[in-house]
Amino acid sequence: MIKIKFLIVGQGIAGSCFALKLIRENKSFLIIDEDKDKASKVAVGVFNPVVLKRFALIWDAEPQLRLMHRYFEEFEKICGQQLISQIPTYRIFKDPDEIRTWQKKSKNRELLKFISEEIITNNHADINSPLGYAEVRQTGRIKLEECLEAFKNYLTEKNQYINQRFDYSELQISDDGIQYGDIFAEKIIFCEGYGVKDNPWFNELPVIGVKGEVLKIRTSTQVPKAIWKAFNFLMPIEDDICFTASTYDRDDLTPEPTEKGKQEILKHLEEIYKGSYSVIDHTAGIRPTVVDRRPLVGSHPKFKNMYILNGMGTRGTLLAPRMTEYLYDYIENGTPIDKEADVRRFMV
Ligand SMILES: Cc1cc2nc3c(=O)[nH]c(=O)nc-3n(C[C@H](O)[C@H](O)[C@H](O)COP(=O)(O)OP(=O)(O)OC[C@H]3O[C@@H](n4cnc5c(N)ncnc54)[C@H](O)[C@@H]3O)c2cc1C
Repeated sequence: MIKIKFLIVGQGIAGSCFALKLIRENKSFLIIDEDKDKASKVAVGVFNPVVLKRFALIWDAEPQLRLMHRYFEEFEKICGQQLISQIPTYRIFKDPDEIRTWQKKSKNRELLKFISEEIITNNHADINSPLGYAEVRQTGRIKLEECLEAFKNYLTEKNQYINQRFDYSELQISDDGIQYGDIFAEKIIFCEGYGVKDNPWFNELPVIGVKGEVLKIRTSTQVPKAIWKAFNFLMPIEDDICFTASTYDRDDLTPEPTEKGKQEILKHLEEIYKGSYSVIDHTAGIRPTVVDRRPLVGSHPKFKNMYILNGMGTRGTLLAPRMTEYLYDYIENGTPIDKEADVRRFMV
């Protein structure tokens, strides 16, 4: 019999952040992960505290950003590689109205920390920005796929990672904890991303799958190092290799990339890049989004040993560390979870 404090189901960014917290707090745990259809592997890992459609700060921006850096600096130590890159985002303007809105919004004291007032004249031949662009600060990229792969290897070596599908019908729940095969855990934390749709205890939550596709392209010229953002974005990751993304499809929830998705991304690429390129990779994943665009964190109303950490939507990189802190403090110290994230808003 294996006796542990926490059993985690799923090793995407949510399950990994929770496991990292448990390592820091010296608590015993195991992760069971199918390692299939993992949105976190497809995610480009961009972080950006500003909503670039509306020019507004995201919910809870500063604590999320602070904790994101803390968590990924710890992942860097464990994984033995650099994972965080600070890269400015350049918002390309499509019409004079957008410029006026930007100039108005950049006077807002909260936003001023993150966006600059100056409209920059474009002088890069292959960047399509006749009206200029402006800078968003404190943005960048986390190498999520590399992070999760290295963390999985680290946990495997410590016998804390089991690669298999969790069979919900095998779970026995008692007042003291849960039994799953020869594993007894005091608590179980479900972090299955969109896979939560198969979880009999949480599958009635309003999680909406939103498929996203990403292209990796080789460009004929070197794109200046930045996250170039119009409707989509273009971001160089090596000399002539860039990511460009993404699509948002609620109807087709198959895990495979599609020709339609590729054409949509390439159409939007024209709004950013004028040079020639070839597509070298194409991937797809399903984002676990929630109707009210807030995460799902907390305990099952009936089974007190059962918890969920999900609903990271389009911003897993920023949300997962902060939501991990909420869940851990709730479990260990009884600290209430922010109402906006608490799963009880949908389950009583
Ligand atoms: C195309 C695309 C681009 C994106 N770009 C970004 C970005 O740039 N920045 C950003 O912050 N976010 C981005 N996102 C969003 C981000 O990917 C998600 O918010 C995040 O990955 C969700 O993480 P998760 O851990 O909840 O789920 P997942 O990463 O999906 O992980 C869930 C894990 O649980 C496992 N699992 C599920 N059910 C079971 C079971 N029964 N038994 C065992 N294991 C199970 C799965 O196999 C998987 O490994 C993007 C998403 C997509 C699709």
